[in-house]
Amino acid sequence: TTAFTQRPTRIRVDLDAISDNLRAIQAHAGVPVMPIVKANAYGHGLVPVARHLQAQGATRLGVAFVEEGIALREAGITLPILVLGGIFGPQVGLFLHHDLELTVSSIAKLRQVEAAAEALGRRAAIHLKIDTGMGRIGVRHDSAGPFVEAALASRWCEIRGIYSHLACADDPDSPMTARQLERFLQACAYFERVGAPMPVRHLANSGGVLHFSGTHLDMVRPGILLYGVLPDAASRPAVPVRPALSLVSQVVYFKVVRAGGTVSYGATWTAPADTRVVTVPIGYGDGWPRALSSHGQVLVSGERHRVVGRVCMDQFMVAIGASSACNEDEVVLIGRQGDQEIRVEEVAAAAGTIPYEVLVQLNERIPREYV
Ligand code: PLP
Repeated sequence: TTAFTQRPTRIRVDLDAISDNLRAIQAHAGVPVMPIVKANAYGHGLVPVARHLQAQGATRLGVAFVEEGIALREAGITLPILVLGGIFGPQVGLFLHHDLELTVSSIAKLRQVEAAAEALGRRAAIHLKIDTGMGRIGVRHDSAGPFVEAALASRWCEIRGIYSHLACADDPDSPMTARQLERFLQACAYFERVGAPMPVRHLANSGGVLHFSGTHLDMVRPGILLYGVLPDAASRPAVPVRPALSLVSQVVYFKVVRAGGTVSYGATWTAPADTRVVTVPIGYGDGWPRALSSHGQVLVSGERHRVVGRVCMDQFMVAIGASSACNEDEVVLIGRQGDQEIRVEEVAAAAGTIPYEVLVQLNERIPREYV
């Protein structure tokens, strides 16, 4: 084999942080937690995160698409897995074949699932999706009665859960969440009305976990909070979580840009005086936001320094002030260096987006290390 050394850009994932966060969320909510591992476990790596969660006693996992569920099954994950996304008819057989729980979001979808289950001779494990205001998928809360009845009458479907999704739970002051909770409980009441056993009721995303204890019900579905990141920049966490992901690189080039010299595409940054500038080998082709051009910050020599000029596809430049940083010195883009920390929430604010998007855009070009 050929010895191969990778470029010095890494995502480091602290798996213990994820399981500690899981326990903290569980202790706070007091009900089972379904960790959400869709979108490559929010950039943390689908299979390693899921394996760790399974080993640490998680009892169910949530993904967005059947493809993600299949990847987990192929990696040996045996936990129940709920696929949260809407069903694409031709894929129903795949759910059954891989023993994945389906989200059924209309009577028409229920019929598709029944037909496939009957044809394969296998009962489908389903969760009923109620739209209480998110307006994405699900049966409208005020039409839940016939939907629940149809599902209960189905010989080929086993109802494991009933759920809805919160649209505004990241805002503790929004009246929307109470309204959605009330609508959801009204939909669930159809089970009682017909004397059927109540399936697992779940509603809370991270915002619900943090700000609305009434939404915890029988199970909670946190994503971003599991990774130690807050859904809203303003919130002070009621749950003690810590970030699991750091993004680090190294200086690969050092120079002094003379006063009046420019840096990067468009020559948008001009050195006001002779300026020490380093180059870092990561760019928007890795998912590092181009919107950080000329104003994002990174840690070098234990201090914050500013991105200068446009972020390129594979590299960007940083003015390092009086720092004596040189080649191979560490650059921290997300995480801690010395007593400084840059959180993904801060990166997202600087890039004009949300932490979710920053995390999930960090792509497979960046090797992930698990510590
Ligand atoms: N439940 C559903 C249905 C979702 O779509 C998501 C993610 O968007 C989550 C739970 C987790 O959300 P969050 O990461 O805000 O906790």
